[in-house]
Amino acid sequence: MHRTKTRLYPLILGLALGMLALRPAACAETAVYQRKFLSFGTFVELTLAGVSRSTAERLFDEVENEFRYMQKVWWPWHNGALRRINMLLPSGEWFSIAPSVRPLLVRARRLAADSGHLFNPAIGKLVELWGFHKPGSRQGEVPDRKQIKSLVERRPRMSDIEIRGIRIRGHNPAVFIDLGAVAKGYAIERIIRLLQDNGVRNAILNTGGDLKVIGSRGTRPWRIAIRNPDDRRGLIAWFDARSDESVFTSGDYERYFIADGKRYHHILDPRTGFPATGFRSVTVIHTDATLADAAATALFVAGPAQWRQVAAKMGVTLVLAVDAEGALLVSRALYSRLRFAGPRTRKTTIVTLRH
Ligand code: AMP
Ligand code: MG
Repeated sequence: MHRTKTRLYPLILGLALGMLALRPAACAETAVYQRKFLSFGTFVELTLAGVSRSTAERLFDEVENEFRYMQKVWWPWHNGALRRINMLLPSGEWFSIAPSVRPLLVRARRLAADSGHLFNPAIGKLVELWGFHKPGSRQGEVPDRKQIKSLVERRPRMSDIEIRGIRIRGHNPAVFIDLGAVAKGYAIERIIRLLQDNGVRNAILNTGGDLKVIGSRGTRPWRIAIRNPDDRRGLIAWFDARSDESVFTSGDYERYFIADGKRYHHILDPRTGFPATGFRSVTVIHTDATLADAAATALFVAGPAQWRQVAAKMGVTLVLAVDAEGALLVSRALYSRLRFAGPRTRKTTIVTLRH
């Protein structure tokens, strides 16, 4: 595995996907260790500052193992605990819920309700129908409209699941749980806690552009760039992340296929059964990575007409969205912290979010 000890100089980290973590200019002789590995269908990059090399190596091994396990348990198309739950839910009978899944499921159910079920992890059958459960593929075709319509009409929702103590049962056989829109956030939150329990105070954990920071990089804050959805390498703006902040983006460029010249991407509107329209990408910043992940998906689905209400209901104040025309919608609280890259050609609207 890749591991480096570096000095601080301007350089872009993790160029491959989504958000980019920028190295600030040289300011101190802080040792920084880094490991990159594949998990959740993307590159996971962990950067630790202010620890010894031996501590970093031990933690890298532990984190990589933990990721391997989380990916198996929470991906329903793998033979693990969530798959078992999906197989047993349609029976309508009570059965035991694995402790490795319970806290995430309870949290996801709450977040789904808060989002007005626009973030809806119960629509796994729709995700499967579109073929977006297959990682990496750019091949695909629009599914049969009748099949989409019949799945939408059966209204699978997280509120169709009842959890009591160690038991769970389903009340709607159309429910198939896919935690893909929240599992990375929850995983990041868990791993950051693990690192903190091991004495780490300064770190950045980046899973394909979705990330959380703690502490700082030497004497400077962690610097985070928000990606331009039109350009794999370009960025819209950057800002200095405060300790504990997580940054999550849902974008139409992450997984999609083209059919008849039209882009069909992986974030589905549970009300229509089709890819959500209106936004190209939505970035949410919040201290709770699980919330940030679910909210980025929910706001993306909500689109320009409804994102403000959903943000208020979910307790989100730091948002940047790119609409279908490429215009920016930025919450006032975030706007004051952003530094824009290059000439300002995009129409930008600053929005006050109410609570
Ligand atoms: P994200 O990139 O966090 O927005 O998550 C997108 C992934 O979540 C997709 O690849 C699907 O597996 C799943 N998904 C798609 N649409 C939704 C939705 N409306 N609510 C919850 N999960 C979804
Ligand atoms: Mg998400």
